[in-house]
Amino acid sequence: MGPVDGFPADPVRPVPPDEILVGGRWRRGGGDPLVTRDPADGRVLAEIHATGAGDVDEAVCRGHEAVRLTRDALPHERARWLTAIAALIERDAEGLARLQTADTGKSIGETRALVASAAGTFRYFAGVAETLEGALTPPRGPYLTMSTHEPIGVVGAITPWNSPIASDAQKIAPALAAGNAVLLKPAEWTPLVALALGRLVCEAGLPEGLLSVLPGPGPVTGDAIVRHPGVGKVSFTGGTATGRAIGAIAARKIMPVSLELGGKSPTIVLPDADLDLAVAGILFGIFSSSGQSCVAGSRVLLPSAMYDEVLGRLVAGAEKLRVGPGDDPSTQVAPLVTAEHRDRVAAMVDRARADGARVRCGGAPLPGPGNFYPPTILDGLPADSAACQEEIFGPVLVALPYTGEEELVTLANATVYGLACGIWTRDYRAAVRLARRVEAGTVWINTYKQFSVSTPFGGEKESGLGREKGREGVLAYTRQKSLYWGLDERPNPWAGPV
Ligand code: NDP
Repeated sequence: MGPVDGFPADPVRPVPPDEILVGGRWRRGGGDPLVTRDPADGRVLAEIHATGAGDVDEAVCRGHEAVRLTRDALPHERARWLTAIAALIERDAEGLARLQTADTGKSIGETRALVASAAGTFRYFAGVAETLEGALTPPRGPYLTMSTHEPIGVVGAITPWNSPIASDAQKIAPALAAGNAVLLKPAEWTPLVALALGRLVCEAGLPEGLLSVLPGPGPVTGDAIVRHPGVGKVSFTGGTATGRAIGAIAARKIMPVSLELGGKSPTIVLPDADLDLAVAGILFGIFSSSGQSCVAGSRVLLPSAMYDEVLGRLVAGAEKLRVGPGDDPSTQVAPLVTAEHRDRVAAMVDRARADGARVRCGGAPLPGPGNFYPPTILDGLPADSAACQEEIFGPVLVALPYTGEEELVTLANATVYGLACGIWTRDYRAAVRLARRVEAGTVWINTYKQFSVSTPFGGEKESGLGREKGREGVLAYTRQKSLYWGLDERPNPWAGPV
């Protein structure tokens, strides 16, 4: 990692100092200290003082001032800020990836990919900023009509702990491209990479006040951001229960809100699937990120006639996966984010066992230090059991058999969620038919968990509201405005000349 002001000398894992970014100024937060630990061994990584109520208020005020001062910045100037941020993320990529591995426990291969994706997101939205257009709409009278987009003002971006830098970039980049100031609230378990990103954004020369980084507990700092009268929009990624609570506050404020929420995504194997591809893809879809992924393919639907064969292959594959610390490049399944979360996953598996589940592999936390939970496959459960309905957010796959397409579609859609789906087949007609019938914002056919910043992403049903990414992603941070330019030389006919 390159030289960044304020970082301690450790070049491998440069933990940022105990300061938060309030409207362009670094200082100790006014709230209680948050302790973050390395999930691989439990050691304390850093203590960061959380954001206080006064800090949120100041960040909002400075944000509005910064929006006012930068109102006339031209699109290519905004694009230059975003490109400079991307370049600094790329310069410091290895340090950011190592910091994120230390903070979240994720494997180093994955955090490198997330950092690269964050840089790509800033570059993409730089391009969008430069090329975004309004429209001349067809008039219905003697006037010209235009549809334009303006910044909302100060927006809140609330992100979860599972892919911090990528989800931070996914909100900050389009919001800045649209001309807003952003209050970023990272999850209290993983604040470090957002603070490191804040340092880079300042170094990149983004005008002061356009970004604040405000770590703190969700019900305190997050809630203060959502309720603040000066915050004009909130973009939230996290659990469905939290999203519902935020949506209710937004409704009272008549404030736009985007919600990227949980999932219980099905992966479907059709009888003609290439099983080598399918088994590898299903294992990746659930066990990469140790299952701590909103799009984790956590339910696998298998044809009854091939059930034992495919399940056997999945179990054999899961047992071979290498469980280990995130900073070991050979690790495939890294520790869970906290001991508390590992215990929650363990409790859900115990409940499934009590509900009659057969545990085909895994099924209990690994002994020793660190929050390790092995790849686990369950079956023998009814489709309405908790393990088939609730998001476990850990390395736990539930298998269900089906007979015929009608039962398959019913099972695939039989949860409150609608985030993603995988279909494994050689029959493109069946794939198209199923992709249309499955309730999911993203459908992967013969692949899984691939993402492109230029392709919109979001959920149906209780998996969310709105879309991120893609050219239109920037419009979610704007207010549309219509302009009418009168062309008639005569007065309006109703009053006539007076
Ligand atoms: P949470 O909903 O608990 O938290 C998400 C964020 O919201 C955190 O920053 C949290 O703060 C904050 N928060 C919590 N309570 C409030 C509140 N009352 N007001 C405002 N903010 C609040 O989710 P998790 O952190 O457990 O994240 C996992 C969830 O995120 C899963 O359900 C997963 O599916 C979902 N997710 C969805 C994605 C998508 O794109 N659809 C992508 C990634 C994850 P703190 O943690 O500091 O308390």
